[in-house]
Amino acid sequence: MNVADSESLSRRLLAAGYVEEPELERADVAILNTCVVRQASEDKVYSKLHELRAWKTPDRTLALTGCLVRKEGETLRRRFPQLDRVVPIGEYDEFVADLGARYDLSLGEPMPVAGRTGVSHFINVIEGCDHNCTFCIVPKVRGRERHKPLTAVLEECRTAVAEGAREVVLLGQNVDDYRDPEGGGGLAALVSQVEQIPGLKRLRFLTSHPQDLEPELLEVMARSRVIAHELQLPIQSGDDQILKRMARGYQVRHYRALVQRARELMPDVGLYTDVIVGFPGETRERFESTRRVMEELEFDVVHLAMYSPRPATYAAEKMIDDVPADEKRRRINELLQLQRGIAARRATRWVGRAVQVLVEGADELGRPYGRNRQGKRVIVLRQRLEPGALVDVVVKEASAGQLTGVAA
Ligand code: SF4
Repeated sequence: MNVADSESLSRRLLAAGYVEEPELERADVAILNTCVVRQASEDKVYSKLHELRAWKTPDRTLALTGCLVRKEGETLRRRFPQLDRVVPIGEYDEFVADLGARYDLSLGEPMPVAGRTGVSHFINVIEGCDHNCTFCIVPKVRGRERHKPLTAVLEECRTAVAEGAREVVLLGQNVDDYRDPEGGGGLAALVSQVEQIPGLKRLRFLTSHPQDLEPELLEVMARSRVIAHELQLPIQSGDDQILKRMARGYQVRHYRALVQRARELMPDVGLYTDVIVGFPGETRERFESTRRVMEELEFDVVHLAMYSPRPATYAAEKMIDDVPADEKRRRINELLQLQRGIAARRATRWVGRAVQVLVEGADELGRPYGRNRQGKRVIVLRQRLEPGALVDVVVKEASAGQLTGVAA
């Protein structure tokens, strides 16, 4: 989401004549795009703002956008007087126009745009979320759902592909909830249209919600040659009581059935999930249920987080944070260790097989890298490949983090 927002703002700035400057000391404008999903992300913003105090001079502009604006609003300007502007998400045109009045762009020398391969284009198809998971601050800071019309999505994707993008990533806090406000079609209809754009090599979408993922979507994915076989499907807990307290709206058996169906249709589907440990009421026994579900379902990647109460959420206001911090740490470490083994074992299934890789760039050793259709990072040895190339790679080595292979 934040990458998509940053790109949307960058596009406006580049169109207005600004150039990206990777070195802060040479920049006239710095913009922080903020995340508040966890306390740690929020703390990072505050420490960055302190750090930027030394950089800020009267000629320079320091602006802040993203979810922290909704959460803290103009109070940020009082707390951090070095901030020139606080820009609400999406209200970028006015900001760019105001900046234009400050800087004379005709004086600058055009510089190449640094660091952009432009292979992937991120597009928000839904803003906000209508769910109310008790631990989550997103509905408070991003508001209720607003859906982008299918025609607008198609137009933006066609333009991105015409400008060189080879992959489109459709984004929504709960992307399965997508409804075209004009024609009424859902996500399956949307991806069926987007995948037909000539020149598009890969289509991804995230994040799915187990309550809303429609079986029809899995069928469309399985039939497609362009849509990634990858599901970002947060389970959050493997215990029905905890899921109920989280107000997730599904039970473990429903989640299990979805995974089984996805694997029937796409045996190699990449399965990514999120798990929170130490949610209020998570006894040792309930934690063990999560552990068992992870052993049973064998995810490719599990994003693990320790529960931390976020202000203004139901869980923070009405539930007692009753799992001690060191017990949360113990639990997260147990699951990390378990998942490391599972991911390494699952990765070995690729060895000796050919996978289709969309090249994104080159790593620090100059080796091309990209992702296979199931979302796994792949390094290609002994070959020069341009970003955007789609190549078949025979996998020689596999680890939990990445595959290594040679072009077929
Ligand atoms: S569906 Fe996701 S974004 Fe929406 S409230 Fe639940 S956790 Fe937050």
